[in-house]
Amino acid sequence: MKRIGVLTSGGDSPGMNAAVRAVVRKAIYHNVEVYGIYHGYAGLISGHIEKLELGSVGDIIHRGGTKLYTARCPEFKTLEGQMKGIEQLKKFGIEGIVVIGGDGSYQGAKKLTEHGFPCVGVPGTIDNDIPGTDFTIGFDTALNTVIDAIDKIRDTATSHERTYVIEVMGRHAGDIALWTGLSGGAETILIPEANYDMEDVVARLKRGHERGKKHSIIIVAEGVGSASDVSKQIEEATNLETRVTVLGHVQRGGSPSAFDRVLASRLGARAVELLLEGKGGRCVGIQSNQIVDHDIIEALAQKHTIDLSMYQLSQELSI
Ligand code: ADP
Repeated sequence: MKRIGVLTSGGDSPGMNAAVRAVVRKAIYHNVEVYGIYHGYAGLISGHIEKLELGSVGDIIHRGGTKLYTARCPEFKTLEGQMKGIEQLKKFGIEGIVVIGGDGSYQGAKKLTEHGFPCVGVPGTIDNDIPGTDFTIGFDTALNTVIDAIDKIRDTATSHERTYVIEVMGRHAGDIALWTGLSGGAETILIPEANYDMEDVVARLKRGHERGKKHSIIIVAEGVGSASDVSKQIEEATNLETRVTVLGHVQRGGSPSAFDRVLASRLGARAVELLLEGKGGRCVGIQSNQIVDHDIIEALAQKHTIDLSMYQLSQELSI
């Protein structure tokens, strides 16, 4: 393989730039040319593709977002869109591509694989919901952003003796809520993977209040429902002054953590190695601290699961 492409797609995540840098530098290290495909699959279809040099990815390892830009591209879900993309790849002489993105982006990579085009998926999303890896690029940074916010909210919650309901991202996966809830010492964590009983939530809050607790923090993953609904229910049942904070897109930005930069560097480099070994149709990840790769179609057939023992632990530690 003498020429490869790289794109970032779907929701951006901190560390995508570090992954792009690793792909470009690793390929050039092996005397392989690299082309950047801009705006995800939209740029693949339109041919917004440019050659990248060593210097093209300089000064980006520490930046959030993605220098290659990202986009949602419904056209790529159609056979016609996919064929247009493959035509562009042929036109530029690109023989394999690295797709950095989340679940939807992996679906696009799966389609390219099914059409016989060599493709390797790199998990880039703050949601941590990609099969075949323990951690996705951006998750650790998002956790640190959320925990910083929780600690600040805790100061005001204590001063005013209030209950705070904090909504974090995670439409289908409760990983951000679970990890930040546990590390932020939340009273209650509501995640899509576990049913909850509002009476139990209320009883927990009342117990804390009775033993003199000055504040309470409840973390709600957006997939469970809105924080303001949860807040209203709590206020009605407890009479405790309750406030809501929805963290929103602040969770997606910022300079990537050291962990995410290292993960992105390792996974981006491994993706290039796989293409050079002639192994397309794969996705890379980290499992038990080892860099691994899986068949992308088989990986996508698996469901992402959450570690429910951590959920249990969070409940035990906030009795
Ligand atoms: P993420 O990668 O963050 O999960 P999306 O779900 O929005 O983000 O997916 C990103 C892009 O991947 C979509 O806009 C589309 O171009 C492509 N994509 C998603 N699902 C498919 C599919 N089933 N077939 C082909 N391409 C897809």
